[in-house]
Amino acid sequence: MKKGNLNRVKEVLLKSRSILITTHVNPDGDGISSELALYLFLKKIGKEVVVTNRDPVPEMFAFLPGVDEIHVSEQPPGNPDLIIVTDCGGLERTGLKIPEPCNPKVIVIDHHLTNDQNGEINLLDHEASATGELVYHLIKEMEKDCPAKMDYPIALCLYTAIFTDTGSFRYSNTTPEALAIASKLVSYGINSWTVAEQVYESKPYATLKLTGRFLQTLGISPKGRFAWGSIVKEDFQKTGTREEHTDGLVNYPRSIRGVEVAVFFREMDSEQVKISMRSKGEVNVAAIAEKLGGGGHHNAAGCIMKGSLKEVRKKVLRMVAESLQDEVPEEDSVEVCG
Ligand code: 5GP
Ligand code: MN
Repeated sequence: MKKGNLNRVKEVLLKSRSILITTHVNPDGDGISSELALYLFLKKIGKEVVVTNRDPVPEMFAFLPGVDEIHVSEQPPGNPDLIIVTDCGGLERTGLKIPEPCNPKVIVIDHHLTNDQNGEINLLDHEASATGELVYHLIKEMEKDCPAKMDYPIALCLYTAIFTDTGSFRYSNTTPEALAIASKLVSYGINSWTVAEQVYESKPYATLKLTGRFLQTLGISPKGRFAWGSIVKEDFQKTGTREEHTDGLVNYPRSIRGVEVAVFFREMDSEQVKISMRSKGEVNVAAIAEKLGGGGHHNAAGCIMKGSLKEVRKKVLRMVAESLQDEVPEEDSVEVCG
């Protein structure tokens, strides 16, 4: 991250009158926590600030301070002179419709590898474990010029951002910097078990039923280097779940010994499929996702593709097989659940 950008973002924030904060569609722990941390701090310094997301907050993040104040809408209220986009490359990924007469400045705060630098000011660091790390630095920078200080609710959000994006401090982005910041955040009174319990140990029963159906669909390539699984719309209907309950399912095929790339396919409708990819080796899944119109990180990426589940799965598995010098599985061995 460029120190100069940190100062520029701070200056613009402190000068702005009305601020809108948002994150990507289907928001995750890092996106929601980062925007809430910034929201809570800006409110403390007396700014007119709102958080608007296109999609609702998943239940597992309902414990975050300020979460009830998030507007869920495609159309943000008011007439902001500044928009802050967190945890993605720009306004396009937020799904928001900004009314024509508004001409706000856009600041992007992000840690993705596939960021096109769409903001007027971009606070980017793809080595940061989470966008929450960048927000931590920004708040610490603003503390120097403001009477308001970081506090427990803000620290809880930022800890959750880093905790979720590092897979509970398991992934390779668990850097010394990530741990150092997490350590400082814990000193504000965070109880690590409370966060873990809220995020990972409070699942609805129906989520496990959905997981059971997902596990039935698992497939593995001939050389065992990649594996996959799918969810179709009927799975949601039969179990009474929604797409947010698929969070983490891709970790099951990834957890198989020898598997380097895991792919999760979720049927959105008869013509669109959401794809999540994870790698645990050298393969850069962000590069594969980017070729398919999406993006992400080296080890975690995604995209949305047009086509039936069967067509999309065939195409994606062929690309993954090529990148791993593995083979495409026989058509018949690719189970379609439901
Ligand atoms: P997930 O598989 O959990 O949806 O996403 C994994 C990572 O890839 C996240 O960092 C997410 O932001 C990114 N990602 C997922 N889907 C898309 C997409 O359609 N476009 C882009 N640019 N990034 C995506
Ligand atoms: Mn993130």
